[in-house]
Amino acid sequence: LEAAGLRRTFRVGSRLSPSRVSAVDGVSLQLRAGESLGIVGETGCGKSTLARMLVGLEKPDGGTLTYRGQDVTAGRRPDRRLLRQGVQMIFQDPYTSLDPRMTVLDLIAEPLAATRSASTRQRKDRVAELLALVGLSTDMMTRYPHQFSGGQRQRIGIARALVLDPQVLICDEPVSALDVSVQAQVINLLRELQRRLGVALLFISHDLSVVRHVADRIAVMYLGRLAETGPTATIYDNPGHPYTQALLSASPSVGSDSRGRLRRRLVLAGEPPSPVNPPSGCRFHERCPLAEARCAEEIPALRALPGQDGPGRLSACHFAERVMSAG
Ligand code: SF4
Ligand code: MG
Repeated sequence: LEAAGLRRTFRVGSRLSPSRVSAVDGVSLQLRAGESLGIVGETGCGKSTLARMLVGLEKPDGGTLTYRGQDVTAGRRPDRRLLRQGVQMIFQDPYTSLDPRMTVLDLIAEPLAATRSASTRQRKDRVAELLALVGLSTDMMTRYPHQFSGGQRQRIGIARALVLDPQVLICDEPVSALDVSVQAQVINLLRELQRRLGVALLFISHDLSVVRHVADRIAVMYLGRLAETGPTATIYDNPGHPYTQALLSASPSVGSDSRGRLRRRLVLAGEPPSPVNPPSGCRFHERCPLAEARCAEEIPALRALPGQDGPGRLSACHFAERVMSAG
C-alpha cells in the first residue's frame, strides 16, 4: 500500500467566515507486504484522517493511493472494491464500533455478505475459525457486544476485520480505550496475527511505548506532515527530528535508550498549534528549541539522512544532522 503526497483539508467555521483545516498535508509512505509500520503523533496531527484515507473511508483532495500497483484514488469502482477487500480497519473504540443489536456471529460475518455468497454453514464455520484465532470461545457467537469486556470486544473487532482475508490491517489507536492490563494482550494478539497470517499492520498511536513493541518501522507525524521515518530501533536510539526527541523524552517508559542511557530532556513550548492556518515553513518552528530564522520561511523537505543505514531513514528537519550528533 503506497501513499504519495496524500492531502486532505476540511472546511470549518460559518459560511460567512469559512476557514480550512489542513489535516493531512502531503504524506508519502509505503507499507510493504507483511511488515508493521507505526504512525506516531499527538492528538490532532492527522493520524486518523490519514488512516481513513488509506482504508478508502475518506477521499483525498490530492495525491495518490496505490494498492498492489493500482491507483485506487481515481474512484473507479473495481479499484475501490479491491481496496475494501484487501485493506481493513480496526477502530479505536470497541464500545462504539460494534452495532449493539447484532450478534457476534452477524457482526463478524457481515462483511462476507456484501462480497460473496456464503451458506449459513460456511458463515458459521468461518466465524468459529476466526473466534479461535483471536482467542475467543466459539459459543460466544450467539451473544451481543454488551455482554463482553472491552478487550473481548476489540478481539471481536479484529475477527471482523479479518473475515475477508485482508493483506493490510489499519489499526487506529486500537488499545487506547482499553485498560492498561488488557493493552498488552491485544498488542500481542496483533503481533501474532501479523506473523501467522503474514498480514501487514499499520499501527497508529500517540503512545510511543506501545508502538515500540509493535512496529518494525515508524513514521512520526506533526500537524499533518511527516517529521521523520525509519527503523524503530534506530529512531528510538537516535531520533533525527527535534519533535521525535521531545516525544521520546516526554514518555516515561521510553525515557532512556536501548543501552539504558537517559535521554537529553527536551521540553516543548506550548500546545500544538491549530491546523487552521498552520505555521509557515516548518510547522514545528514555534515550539522547536532549535529553530532558526530559516525554519519559519522554508518548508523542510523529507530527505534521506546521509550515512544512515536502514531503508527509509528520512527526516524533515533542516538541521537533522545536528540533532542526531547531539544525541
Ligand atoms: Fe526545528 Fe527548524 Fe528542524 Fe523544524 S526545521 S524541526 S523548526 S530545527
Ligand atoms: Mg485519532
